[in-house]
Amino acid sequence: MNPRHRMVLEADNGMELLFVCPHDGCGRRLMLKRSGGLTVIDRGDFFALHYGGTEGLEISSGIGG
Ligand SMILES: [Zn+2]
Repeated sequence: MNPRHRMVLEADNGMELLFVCPHDGCGRRLMLKRSGGLTVIDRGDFFALHYGGTEGLEISSGIGG
């Protein structure tokens, strides 16, 4: 079973949200646009299932993989 990592919101400039994975040895980072779309900045642990979110926005596992 793949590990599950909960990503946390690190920055929000009103248009884009920066999520990071605080898990040791992972460090996945991605930018989520409120208008839709997602950019993976750092892939992190490829095998982990990433999830997380904030009000009105959600990241589901595996998205942007
Ligand atoms: Zn992770």
